[in-house]
Amino acid sequence: MLNLSILKEMTMLQTAYPTPRITTPFPELYKRVERHIPPFEWSILADDIAAIFKLKKERNAVVLAHNYQTPDIFHTVGDIVGDSLALAREAARTDADVIVLAGVHFMAETAKLLNPAKTVLIPDLEAGCSLAASITADDIKLLRQRHPGVPIVTYVNTSAAVKAESDVCCTSSNAKKIVEALGVPRVIMLPDEYLAQNIAAQTSVKIIAWKGHCEVHELFTPDDVRQLRENHPGVTILAHPECPPEVVAEADFSGSTAAMSDFVAQRRPPRVVLLTECSMSDNVAVAHPDIEFIRPCNLCPHMKRITLKNIRHALETGQHAVTIDPAIAAPARRAVERMLAL
Ligand code: SF4
Repeated sequence: MLNLSILKEMTMLQTAYPTPRITTPFPELYKRVERHIPPFEWSILADDIAAIFKLKKERNAVVLAHNYQTPDIFHTVGDIVGDSLALAREAARTDADVIVLAGVHFMAETAKLLNPAKTVLIPDLEAGCSLAASITADDIKLLRQRHPGVPIVTYVNTSAAVKAESDVCCTSSNAKKIVEALGVPRVIMLPDEYLAQNIAAQTSVKIIAWKGHCEVHELFTPDDVRQLRENHPGVTILAHPECPPEVVAEADFSGSTAAMSDFVAQRRPPRVVLLTECSMSDNVAVAHPDIEFIRPCNLCPHMKRITLKNIRHALETGQHAVTIDPAIAAPARRAVERMLAL
């Protein structure tokens, strides 16, 4: 039993020092991510988020965040969010002076190509991409020699130097449209072998592929798909076209990250799995709390190099500004703009 004098002392102490009310910073913002970020973690992140908001205002800056960024970036400081195509389009339209690319290096280069007069920052220079690293401008020159007259369609996941040697760019959203819009019987499509094979299955245009792979999507196997169906009866399986064709064949739908997101919003499957980078499910799930997302998790190590801390640092210091040799920028820009026009 509690001693009466102790009880009295406790009551006096409580009156003198009332328990502090714990407040959540940015409560409205937190509501968006509360299912993914515990309150104690949010209190730690809030300092960087507040600083980024302030710096964006001071520098007239915007943050472009790719679908594979974590929810603390995607749903809080990201001003423009989406897939590579959406980011490229919006990068061309923004009137901000500074663009911070919360994504990987080729995306920052694309933003710079479309905004040569603006400052484009990538928070970590090491944020690369296995597809972009799989091919060089010299490889393209050799391909042209080997297949004279065959147009080269280059996935945006490439360096500016590779884009500069290409006829037109594409993304996973518009690859089929671009290939067919050229009106030719054969195209070279690079560097993603699986994307090329998946598009080849949907068109009569003959596609010559390269041997590049996305290190995240190539990990999915047809066995994974069968296992998911067995373990989660009734699940709807959506696969990104960077997955191997045998995986796409086993899935219920295949499309870009934007197409997957639209599929979920429109068809509203009760249980769904997105065979793509891990954070994508977290980001889509925020808008659909009633849908069960099964999450086999393959993380992109390059995308995960971007953090709230280094976005803040980029805005504070102006690091790392993307520059592109003008001799490369002009033809690379033409290839991107041709895609946007098509
Ligand atoms: S997910 Fe794949 S394609 Fe996308 S940046 Fe990472 S390695 Fe490149």
